[in-house]
Amino acid sequence: MQGVKAVTQERFNNFINGEWLGSAERVANINPSDTADVLGEYAQATAEQGRAAVAAAVTGQQAWQATGLEHRYKVLMAIGDELIARSEELGDQLSREEGKPIAEGRGEVYRSGQFFHYFAAEVLRQVGDTADSVRPGIEVETRREPMGTVVVITPWNFPMATAAWKIAPALAFGNSVVFKPANLVPASAVSLTEIISRQDLPPGTFNLVMGSGAEVGEALITSPDIDAITFTGSLQTGRHIAMAAAANLTKFQLEMGSKNALVVLDDADLDIAADCAVNGAFFGSGQKCTASSRLIVTAAVHDQFVEKVCERMAQLQLGHALDKTTQIGPVVDASQLAQNRKYLELATSEGAQLVCGGEIDDSKGFYMQPALFVNSTNDMTINRDEVFGPIACVIKVADYEQALAALNDTQYGLTAGIVTRSLQEATHFKRNAKTGCVMINLPTAGTDYHVPFGGRKSSSFGSREQGQYAVEFYTEIKTTYTRSA
Ligand code: NAD
Repeated sequence: MQGVKAVTQERFNNFINGEWLGSAERVANINPSDTADVLGEYAQATAEQGRAAVAAAVTGQQAWQATGLEHRYKVLMAIGDELIARSEELGDQLSREEGKPIAEGRGEVYRSGQFFHYFAAEVLRQVGDTADSVRPGIEVETRREPMGTVVVITPWNFPMATAAWKIAPALAFGNSVVFKPANLVPASAVSLTEIISRQDLPPGTFNLVMGSGAEVGEALITSPDIDAITFTGSLQTGRHIAMAAAANLTKFQLEMGSKNALVVLDDADLDIAADCAVNGAFFGSGQKCTASSRLIVTAAVHDQFVEKVCERMAQLQLGHALDKTTQIGPVVDASQLAQNRKYLELATSEGAQLVCGGEIDDSKGFYMQPALFVNSTNDMTINRDEVFGPIACVIKVADYEQALAALNDTQYGLTAGIVTRSLQEATHFKRNAKTGCVMINLPTAGTDYHVPFGGRKSSSFGSREQGQYAVEFYTEIKTTYTRSA
């Protein structure tokens, strides 16, 4: 294909205590747009290597914490600079391994650089507080200190950005890192590690261990020597990590599944509503934790809305992620495609009606046309389970009150969107959607890097990520009393 770099099969290793280390087992990194294209073979860290990475991180953290603020600032700035300078090259690699169109892949790498720049600035904003003691002659001071060794576990859908928004604050606030990426997307992890490894960090400050959750992941989360675990992934894995962390009383933070909805009211601008629905439900092949898989629409505008969404869906270009004209790439792998197929069948068997898309072609890659269902109700499994694919279901309701009730009737609570011209209803929605993020006349997906991100209910656990709130997770507060007289 034009513009695609020549494929070379390479072997990529883990990075432990400042050294690139191989292992006996390797997995192939397969391009979901073209399964004949293999990006390389990636080392699978053993449990023992995971423990070695933790030991290195414990030692490395002390040296990293002792470096000056300006040094840490410069390191983070330099990582951000390189990510931004190489966003086209690394974005193409990301798209090649994950399947999102290159504009999104490049944008993700650029955004990852911005996370490092943002947290570089946060390095210099670490100020404490002082207080008068209730006892005369004593002064009180509070300051933040690093947590220590942080385990970073990430999913496959934002291979670079999720890693960046966790690793950047961890390093900024003086922690060391053991990074375990998802096994489907190791190339982005290795590239990020290469960039970090060329900076002046004490050995062990940053470690990469690729491999399965069951082996190396388990060795990390059960280690009594780590101080914190930050995780993004499925609810099932998140629950498991919570149990493991609780056993050692390790601090943890979880970002998990979702079942986001976009509400469309009678007074909505239906072009904005249809654009928001298509963008939120199908871009990234619906493989976003912020995707709108439920479209809750009032009866008066239902038919017109569905027609406009179908018109737009018919125009979507499905294709190879590295083709510049592609708007929707393949889904990430065979098991995700099989799961989507299962949900297409389930939705139909539950009584929902497919009005648009849903065709599957797995002859060369894992392609699926985005699918839209109507006649669905909020109690159907298709509207309860997280699908994580390009499938959206329209739920017809009478009015705003019913829409809000349906929106909140889910175990998840990450993002919620509403399309309306009514300030009153938008304001009520903003206050009553039981989610961590609310979007008004915007798609449910698409967030900034300088403000907090996270959800409620089964979508999230622990303190918020990103922006100034990140400091809560990556630091501990120390209170010091000094006799001053
Ligand atoms: P997953 O839970 O299968 O895997 C996530 C990570 O956990 C991977 O690195 C995996 O190897 C690791 N893991 C699995 N078992 C482990 C164990 N026993 N110990 C330690 N680590 C283990 O999730 P996925 O399929 O990679 O990603 C999709 C999921 O991620 C979806 O549910 C999606 O909603 C969620 N997600 C949530 C957010 C958010 O911010 N809420 C963002 C992106 C993705």
